[in-house]
Amino acid sequence: MKIHEFQGKALLRQAGISVPAGVAAKTPDEAAAAFDQLGGKLAVVKAQIHAGGRGKGTIKDNPSQRGVELVKTREDAKRVAAALLGKELVTIQTGPEGKMVQQVLVEAGCDIDRELYLGIVVDRACSLPVLMVSNEGGMNIEEVAAETPEKIFLEPFHPADGLQSYQVRKLCHRLGIKGDSIRSAEKLMKGLCKLFVDLDCSIVEVNPLVVTKQGDLMALDAKINFDDNAMFRHKDLAELRDLSEEDPAEVRAGNAGLSYVQLEGNIGCLVNGAGLAMSTMDLVKLHGGQPANFLDVGGGAQVDQVTEAFRILLGDKNVKAVLVNIFGGIMRCTTIANAILEAYKQVDFNVPLVVRLEGTEVEEGRKILANSGIKVIAAEGLTDAAKKVVAAAGAA
Ligand code: ADP
Ligand code: MG
Repeated sequence: MKIHEFQGKALLRQAGISVPAGVAAKTPDEAAAAFDQLGGKLAVVKAQIHAGGRGKGTIKDNPSQRGVELVKTREDAKRVAAALLGKELVTIQTGPEGKMVQQVLVEAGCDIDRELYLGIVVDRACSLPVLMVSNEGGMNIEEVAAETPEKIFLEPFHPADGLQSYQVRKLCHRLGIKGDSIRSAEKLMKGLCKLFVDLDCSIVEVNPLVVTKQGDLMALDAKINFDDNAMFRHKDLAELRDLSEEDPAEVRAGNAGLSYVQLEGNIGCLVNGAGLAMSTMDLVKLHGGQPANFLDVGGGAQVDQVTEAFRILLGDKNVKAVLVNIFGGIMRCTTIANAILEAYKQVDFNVPLVVRLEGTEVEEGRKILANSGIKVIAAEGLTDAAKKVVAAAGAA
């Protein structure tokens, strides 16, 4: 689950991590009031969307307007907020369609001496969370990682013990952080590592982490994602979810207990089991097709879940053919066959349907489909299924 920058900063503030004072605003007037509330000096108006790259991003129909802008008066704050709110912001992370700005963060302007990078993720190779920092802050860290990985310094830490003081000193040395700033760095780095573990984050990224002219370290940006598998133990964080930022099909699928990821292709895939779903997508691609989605209905899916899965697949305008690939282990092929019949009654099957069934109650399942009168292209085995669905999508 993703959250907005202003929400992430509120969590940082609660954890005692230094962030600029800021107020979220949904209208230009609220933005002007926020500017006054912050003391009426230098401020920054920042578009709040679930994507980064806003500083360099531009408004779709107004390319001179960027997603982050310095303002010096309340009128300026109001003008910039009006130029952002309700508009589509296109950044390197949003794709060309952009994302609608529904809120802005009006934040006290910070006296920046240096911009650093800080990120925390789980490193699967060493099975530990790892703190990453770099002097190359503020810019595209993916580029730094690809071209000059030696400029990123890593410190894995144990989740129970947290980041240790010697690790902070080592990183400070590499970042050229000296004197009193080291104490500020220690508080911030340890605090962020603890927050990462306590809140079950999948990423905490502060880019830029700044050294102010006064020598303090401060988080100027905050990207926090939570591990969905741990949300059951953070009921309070669930309130921070902004459904309007998420793909509607993915939200629907999540509500039905389905694992679904929207993709760009034209072949809808309905599969049980994540591994089978992945290999189905591989085979579709191998035979020249493009999957429209990843969809795992799970081992114990019921008829209504499968029907909802069909609704989601067929609701995607790009889908030109659907491949149902079921291996009946816990799932019975008869359940799927009945779900196809049920879905056929409820949903408009406007594209060819290729079905490959195998496993528990497969003969009965095939019979149900054969006797149903529904036009189904039956497939034998994975390769046959992939070839048939690619051909069907190509012919559509
Ligand atoms: P994004 O990563 O989406 O581009 P950031 O929050 O990193 O957005 O902001 C982009 C740039 O704007 C930062 O690198 C920083 O230079 C500047 N900036 C952001 N917030 C402030 C602030 N409160 N005071 C001064 N400059 C800021
Ligand atoms: Mg940033």
